[in-house]
Amino acid sequence: MSNCHDMKLGQVYVCEACSLELEVVKECEVCEKDAADCECVEHGTFSCCGEPLKLKA
Ligand SMILES: [Zn+2]
Ligand SMILES: [Zn+2]
Repeated sequence: MSNCHDMKLGQVYVCEACSLELEVVKECEVCEKDAADCECVEHGTFSCCGEPLKLKA
């Protein structure tokens, strides 16, 4: 996963190192209107245990 632009409602992201799972219960409202307006890009990825969370298959 990169950032909130790719995170859609109901998706579950997992940390392969510790098995933590995060579910998207609400999408980014800024991206919903216009992803180009979202400033989150600069803040990088969501990570756990030093690695980016991955979308659960
Ligand atoms: Zn966003
Ligand atoms: Zn972890």
